[in-house]
Amino acid sequence: MVAAALRESGHDVSVVDHHTRTTSLPAIVADAKGRRPDLLLLMHSDYNRLIGAHVLDRVARALKEALPGVPVWGYGRLDAAHARRAAEKVPSLDGMLFDEPEFAAVALAEDRARGGSLTQVPGSVVRTDNGVVVHRPDAVELDAAPVPAWDLVPPAAYETSPHQSMDGVVWPVLASRGCPYPCFFCEIQMRPAYRTRSVDAVIAEFVEVHRRYGATNFFLADPTFAIEREWAMEFCRRLAAEGPPEIRWACMGRTDRVDAELLRAMVDAGCWNILFGIESLNPLALEAANKKLDPTTIGPAIRSAREVGLEVVASIMIGLPGDTPEGVDRTVSQLIAMEPDFAQFFVVQLGSDTIPEGGACVSEWDGSRYDFWGHVYVPDGFDGRDQLLALRRRAFRRFYLRPWYVAHRLGRVARSGSPMMQLRRTARGGLIALKLATGRA
Ligand code: SF4
Repeated sequence: MVAAALRESGHDVSVVDHHTRTTSLPAIVADAKGRRPDLLLLMHSDYNRLIGAHVLDRVARALKEALPGVPVWGYGRLDAAHARRAAEKVPSLDGMLFDEPEFAAVALAEDRARGGSLTQVPGSVVRTDNGVVVHRPDAVELDAAPVPAWDLVPPAAYETSPHQSMDGVVWPVLASRGCPYPCFFCEIQMRPAYRTRSVDAVIAEFVEVHRRYGATNFFLADPTFAIEREWAMEFCRRLAAEGPPEIRWACMGRTDRVDAELLRAMVDAGCWNILFGIESLNPLALEAANKKLDPTTIGPAIRSAREVGLEVVASIMIGLPGDTPEGVDRTVSQLIAMEPDFAQFFVVQLGSDTIPEGGACVSEWDGSRYDFWGHVYVPDGFDGRDQLLALRRRAFRRFYLRPWYVAHRLGRVARSGSPMMQLRRTARGGLIALKLATGRA
C-alpha cells in the first residue's frame, strides 16, 4: 500500500522483502546501493518489537554508512505513543512514519523531492537536537488509499496456513483497519483507531485485483470482519451482484458479531471460511482478558456458520489470566463438542508494555521457539512456561488426533468437488497439526 501510494504520486519505487531473498547484511546493503535510492523506508515489524529493533537498527546503520546523505526512515501502522517508542528503540533511523503510513510516506517523499528538511511531516516521529518530536497525522480518508502494488512483490512467496486457504495465491484485502475491542493481549492495542473503507472502495479493489492478476482467492484480512453489521450486509449483497465471478474469500470475526442471516449473505458472496477469535470458553478468562465476549454466543455462531456451509476455524489462547490448567482442558472439551472444522491454540505472549496483574512474563523474546516474538506470559494459576507448552501440545493432540475427526476430514475430502486439491491441503495441514501435537513445531 505504501509503495502503491508513492508510485501513484509520481515516484519510482522498488520493494525488497529480504525475508524472501537473503538475511545477509552485506547483500542487503549492496542491493540497496545498486538501486541508487533518494529515500529508504524500512518497515517496522510488529512481531519483532525488541529483537526486531536491534536488527532494524543494525540494518539502518549499515544503510546510512553505505548511502551517506540518503534519509533512512521506518514506518508502521502504529499510534503516536508506539511510534515514538519504536523510534527510540531504533536510534539509527532518521524518523518513523506512523498512523496510516502510506499518506505520511507520500508527504515525506514530496518534502524530500523539494529539498525540504523532513522535520515537519504530518504523521511522523522525527529526531531533532532537542530530542524526539511527534508530528500529529493529518485526517486521512481511507478511500483515497490505492490498490496495493502487488506487482512489486512476489505474492506466490507468501503462504497462508492451510486451515484458512485453498491452493494457490491468496490475495489479501483490507476493508477496515484496526479493531475497537480492548483485548489486552492483542497487538491491535498499538495501532490507531478502528477505521472502515466504503463498500464501493472495497468492491473496486476486489474487481481491480481480479482484473490485474486474475485473482480468485481472497482473504479479507480485517482483524474483525462485520464490526458494523449493516456495512457487512451491504458489502455481501453488492459483492455477490457486482464482484468478479467465481471468487472465494475467507475472513476473521467474532461470534457475537454474526447471525444466521449475515452468515448466509457471506456465503452467497463467496465466503467459504471464517476464523472466530474465541480465546477461551472459561468466562473468568474471557473477562480477565478484556475480550468483552459473551461465551453463550460461541456455540450458536459455530453451528450457524457450519449450517450455511462455512468452514469454521476456532482460535484459542492458552494461559490467559484467570484461567487454570483444568480450565484449559475444559475449554478444549467444550470446543470439541461444538465441532468447528479446525482449531488453533496459542500460548499467550506479550510485548511486555502492559503486563496484567496476576501473572508474570517469562522467557526470552524468542519467536523462533514459540508462536510469535514476545515474552511468554504465565498467569498465577499455572506452574510455568513448560506447563503451558505441554497444555498446548495436548490441546492439538486432543483436537486433531481423534479417529472420528480424521475419518470425518477424509470423508469431506472425498465428497468435495476438488478432491486432489483438498487432499493436498489436508496433508499439509495434517502434517502441521501432527508436529504441533508432538512438540516438533
Ligand atoms: S477482537 Fe480480535 S482483533 Fe479485536 S482486539 Fe480482540 S483479539 Fe484483537
